[in-house]
Amino acid sequence: KESQAMKFLRQHMDSDGSSSSPTYCNLMMQHRNMTQGWCKPVNTFVHEPVEDVQAVCFQKKISCKDGQSICYQSNARMNITDCRLTGNSKYPNCTYRTSQKERHIIVACEGNPYVPVHFDASV
Ligand code: UDP
Ligand code: UDP
Ligand code: UDP
Repeated sequence: KESQAMKFLRQHMDSDGSSSSPTYCNLMMQHRNMTQGWCKPVNTFVHEPVEDVQAVCFQKKISCKDGQSICYQSNARMNITDCRLTGNSKYPNCTYRTSQKERHIIVACEGNPYVPVHFDASV
């Protein structure tokens, strides 16, 4: 079974990629299995080394959006791509808007080793 840590890597890491093309999200959301059964509405990919994203678990401690759990905000801005489902997209044709950004990422971490398991937001 896929662990939470592996799921984070599948859904949110693309270290060697960049969203140079407007079809990046259409292809990546499909390739990373987020368009099966439904179209996942919002998803962020991070284009930084895995070690740098794992290190965020030891950076600035803040509240997650749920107001309950602990999240961590990256000290540095990171190169990310936000994928947002377009309003007129209808399953199984999931079409996304691709937007490249430089932002601080916010993740939740779990386990031993303590690694990212949830992408909360970017600021
Ligand atoms: N889901 C679904 N059918 C699928 C895939 C996902 O109904 O084929 C629903 C299911 O409730 C799941 C949620 O969408 O918990 C989230 O899916 P996914 O794991 O892809 O993304 P997550 O939101 O958990 O990051
Ligand atoms: N998500 C993401 N990037 C963001 C915000 C959300 O990848 O900047 C993903 C992440 O997988 C999160 C899921 O979308 O678990 C649901 O986000 P949220 O809990 O904010 O749900 P919403 O309230 O937006 O429906
Ligand atoms: N989680 C957390 N804080 C949150 C949301 C989620 O600690 O605010 C944990 C939750 O316990 C779950 C894991 O993160 O085990 C993955 O959550 P989810 O599938 O919603 O995250 P995503 O991968 O979609 O970002």
